[in-house]
Amino acid sequence: MLNVCDIQVMKPLLAEHGFHFSKAKGQNFLIASWVPENIAIESGVDEQTGVLEIGPGIGPLTQQLCLHAGKVCAVELDHRLKPILEKTVGEFDNLEIIWDDVLKQDVAALVKEKFAGLRPAACANLPYYITSPILSALLEAECFDQVTVMVQKEVAVRIAAQPGSADYSAFTIFCQYYAEPELLFDVPAHCFLPQPKVTSAVITLRVRKERPWQIDDQDIFFRTVRASFAMRRKKLSNGLASGFSQLGKVGAAEVIAECGFDENVRGETLGIPEFAKLANAIAARLK
Ligand code: SAM
Repeated sequence: MLNVCDIQVMKPLLAEHGFHFSKAKGQNFLIASWVPENIAIESGVDEQTGVLEIGPGIGPLTQQLCLHAGKVCAVELDHRLKPILEKTVGEFDNLEIIWDDVLKQDVAALVKEKFAGLRPAACANLPYYITSPILSALLEAECFDQVTVMVQKEVAVRIAAQPGSADYSAFTIFCQYYAEPELLFDVPAHCFLPQPKVTSAVITLRVRKERPWQIDDQDIFFRTVRASFAMRRKKLSNGLASGFSQLGKVGAAEVIAECGFDENVRGETLGIPEFAKLANAIAARLK
């Protein structure tokens, strides 16, 4: 197996195929082999697992996933990588590469088609320019047991944030609604070629089999969350009144009182159970 993280191997390989990194495609390739090795181990992938990888690049993580998983399905946008991947991962018969934009895929249908009888997982060193849409698509597909990704460290911290902290956001709640996140390890910029300007981190999201909250209307729940964070450091009633014009300021204040919250409460201090309560009260009013 070619050690594609070895710069003495990678550089001639890329040069041989006239490959130049595309910033627009988020191409920062790993040059530290401990990183893909650890990601594959921490992702909990085994022979009973079918793994969807996004953006194999020249294949460092793909190789590790193929060594551990029952099947790997990798989606790559950049066709220039085809002859390189043939050399670096062509030997694995448990690998299928789909040459397309991952955001154009019906992820749930893909998983159903490719991973019958296997435990589905997703694993990737994500292209950072589309971290949120990809993560959203992976979680909303509701078909994975576990999603393990490398992202910008600040995004990883945001995903795992707790109520009241500066990093807590609507995206935190979105992710924690679907899954329980665990920060795994940091990856410094010098582990990539070219070096990104930011530190990266690997995070795993264990998808909830059951959600421990009663949520009557999922759309209203997420609207409530977005409205509550739209006006940070303002009273929650202002955010809710502007997010739900039908409620108005008086209705928003009544809903907050009905839920037993202080009238001056701020959205960014509430946890998912409180948002669920709020959203259910709003849903009941809007009926
Ligand atoms: N996995 C490799 C590694 O760790 O060295 C490459 C990771 S690089 C950060 C991101 C990869 O995602 C690139 O190979 C890039 O071409 C690919 N990519 C970018 N946008 C994509 C998209 N919309 N769909 C699928 N792959 C994409």
